[in-house]
Amino acid sequence: MYLKSLVLKGFKSFADRSVLSLEPGITAIVGPNGSGKSNISDSVLWVLGERNAKNLRGQAMEDVIFAGSSARKSVGIAEVDLVLDNTDGTLPVDYTEVAVTRRMYRSGESEYLINGALARRMDVLDILHDSGLGTGTHSIISQGSLDSILQSKPEDRRAIIEEAAGVLKHKQRKLKSQRK
Ligand code: ATP
Ligand code: MG
Repeated sequence: MYLKSLVLKGFKSFADRSVLSLEPGITAIVGPNGSGKSNISDSVLWVLGERNAKNLRGQAMEDVIFAGSSARKSVGIAEVDLVLDNTDGTLPVDYTEVAVTRRMYRSGESEYLINGALARRMDVLDILHDSGLGTGTHSIISQGSLDSILQSKPEDRRAIIEEAAGVLKHKQRKLKSQRK
């Protein structure tokens, strides 16, 4: 599984529809301070169901909607589409490509789509469960949290690495079955 594309529209500084097409392997995004690099990683967290505005570096959820600039007026909807390549079947669905969309209106209403069909946030979380992606995992490490990870106790750091490597879920399953 890999992130194939990301489309941002009205999300934070991305007022116009912006398409990022990615290849398997490592992608580096470079640019001057304030050019929107972190906004891109925020968009990945957000489309995958993040509900805490603070984790998106905002005060309120509405802060993800393009607020206007000296050159452009604000918009009413933020939308992010994230397309995952699933030809290796990592995600437990019969699609070789999984597109997750999230939209949010200024009224606060949010909607999710999976491959174009309306879905619940729960459905998005379900598909990603076990994939190592999604909220609560360490697939995204923000600029600020790097320090706290580096300064954490060795056993806490080990748990973070095990979670990211997908070992933790097997350990938890083992513990569960031993208790039975
Ligand atoms: P650095 O290299 O300093 O980490 P960066 O490339 O990660 O910078 P971001 O934090 O992604 O930069 O982008 C910050 C910019 O996004 C700021 O100019 C901010 O005004 C703009 N921005 C954030 N939210 C919105 C919004 N809702 N509407 C318009 N612009 C926004
Ligand atoms: Mg940044």
